[in-house]
Amino acid sequence: MQENTLIDMRNVKKVYHVGSVDVHALRGVDLQIASGDICSIIGRSGSGKSTMLNVLAGLEKVSSGEIIIAGKHLERMTQGELIMFRQKRVGFIFQSFNLMPYYTALENVALPLSFSGMPLAQRNKRAKRMLDLVGLKTHMNHKPGEMSGGQQQRVGIARALVTDPQIVFADEPTGNLDSSTSDEVMHVIINILREQKKTLVMVTHDQHIAEFGDKIIHLLDGRITDIVINAKEGTTQNEPRVRETEGILNA
Ligand code: ADP
Ligand code: MG
Repeated sequence: MQENTLIDMRNVKKVYHVGSVDVHALRGVDLQIASGDICSIIGRSGSGKSTMLNVLAGLEKVSSGEIIIAGKHLERMTQGELIMFRQKRVGFIFQSFNLMPYYTALENVALPLSFSGMPLAQRNKRAKRMLDLVGLKTHMNHKPGEMSGGQQQRVGIARALVTDPQIVFADEPTGNLDSSTSDEVMHVIINILREQKKTLVMVTHDQHIAEFGDKIIHLLDGRITDIVINAKEGTTQNEPRVRETEGILNA
């Protein structure tokens, strides 16, 4: 295991019991993510992507296996410890934004700080700084219904980052956006996270969105089938990746 491993999943299984049927959402996942990694998890619908994020964020318990984040075993934590873990270390970006409709952008972004005991003036100052960072300085007092989808998701990004979490999880963050807005929103996410040296674990069913990651983890029927390092050289862990341009250049 690398020295800077932040997230370590060991033979993680998750079974949902639906009536008399067992649904095997994760069938033994082993994965290490280093601090500062920008990772995409790609797979078609039903492959276990959301389940993987939910167990990593401590929103759901694993059925078996271990999840060690920053040296702490999630599967051994109590509900109270999991809540503390999420408040301290995790930011979450949702497909459907999950903003409070009657709150302004500023109130939405400041909300996660209200659990920290920070005075209101300081909470607002931080929330304003985050909104400025995502390019919404002029929209602080807008409510979600008065903003476009791309703007709402930028509020979602600011809210995920306002507590200065070490890890950001994003579940299909551009799933409700058109393709040009998706690119814009992805650039906002990636630029801020790189700048702040945060770790991103993002799930998507869209190859183009997955390519924003440095590491693309392929999930199929609850199992990792491939991990592609998305470097300029384009290599996988095991073998050189054949790139379209190589064929053209060598032809
Ligand atoms: P993805 O996000 O890749 O579309 P999910 O992780 O949502 O996949 O789902 C993986 C499998 O687990 C699917 O077969 C899905 O129906 C099932 N599943 C997910 N959540 C639940 C749940 N709360 N109860 C029962 N089955 C579930
Ligand atoms: Mg999903």
